[in-house]
Amino acid sequence: MKKACSSFAACKEEKKLLLVKKGFPIKECTHCGHRFTQLKEMEGHLDKVYSDEYFFGGKDGYPGYLLEKDLLLKSGINYAKIISKYTKPGKLLDVGCAAGFIMKGFEQSGWDCYGVEPNNTMAEYGRKELNLTIQTGSLEDYTTDIKFDLVNLIQVVGSLYDPDKSLSIINSLLNKDGLVLVESWNMKSIAARIAGKYWHEYCPPSVITWFSDKTLSQMFEYYGFQLHSKGRPVKKININHGLSLVGESTPNLPLKKPLLKLLSKAIGKYNMRYPAVDLKWYLFKKI
Ligand SMILES: [Zn+2]
Repeated sequence: MKKACSSFAACKEEKKLLLVKKGFPIKECTHCGHRFTQLKEMEGHLDKVYSDEYFFGGKDGYPGYLLEKDLLLKSGINYAKIISKYTKPGKLLDVGCAAGFIMKGFEQSGWDCYGVEPNNTMAEYGRKELNLTIQTGSLEDYTTDIKFDLVNLIQVVGSLYDPDKSLSIINSLLNKDGLVLVESWNMKSIAARIAGKYWHEYCPPSVITWFSDKTLSQMFEYYGFQLHSKGRPVKKININHGLSLVGESTPNLPLKKPLLKLLSKAIGKYNMRYPAVDLKWYLFKKI
């Protein structure tokens, strides 16, 4: 398998500039299709991006992450159900687990769960309120003697600042035949193509790499995995969260703000089914 270039390795292939978002040039490799932006400063990247503002301040993150706890728990249960078609419950590592609601859903489905999360407010909430085992920090700093049967990268793979290193670490943490569950946004989806530079996932610096089915599989294959299965998640989101995404990812037209505010007041507290046209799950198996 030929190596796809990564965002930070010195790849000699030509990178073409696709667009500039929030001052970040988003480029694509003409050779392997890898799409990414390069952050100038890596130091403290996780702390800055995954500050409390990300989880509570709206913008690209969550306007109130804790408000979505029931939905996230349900999502965890749904994913555990999907995984049960391929393996029986064992040890799970959830990378970027936030407060751990998705992980809690796996726990309720029989999994022995461990999490790693850069934001300490979230990690602390999961430890205290949900009684979960969560290490504060990045995957690169994660220390354990445990070998896992499943690693979750749910809405995380585009934010890994060193995908090469992360995938080697994940491979080494997994048992033979171990699985990786990835939930990721598809840059080649119709929604992404239509939205162009306004696509909500073009939100550097919290997302720095974008994938299609092809480029994601390419990267995992290089690190010793094979695509086992894929599908579309049934996802529900809080309407306020949806409106916050719309607000961030559309041009500033007149009346946009008052209209969004009105909608938020009228229906914001309800949940809606997210039309998952640009979102997929993938299950990779260590080979
Ligand atoms: Zn390349």
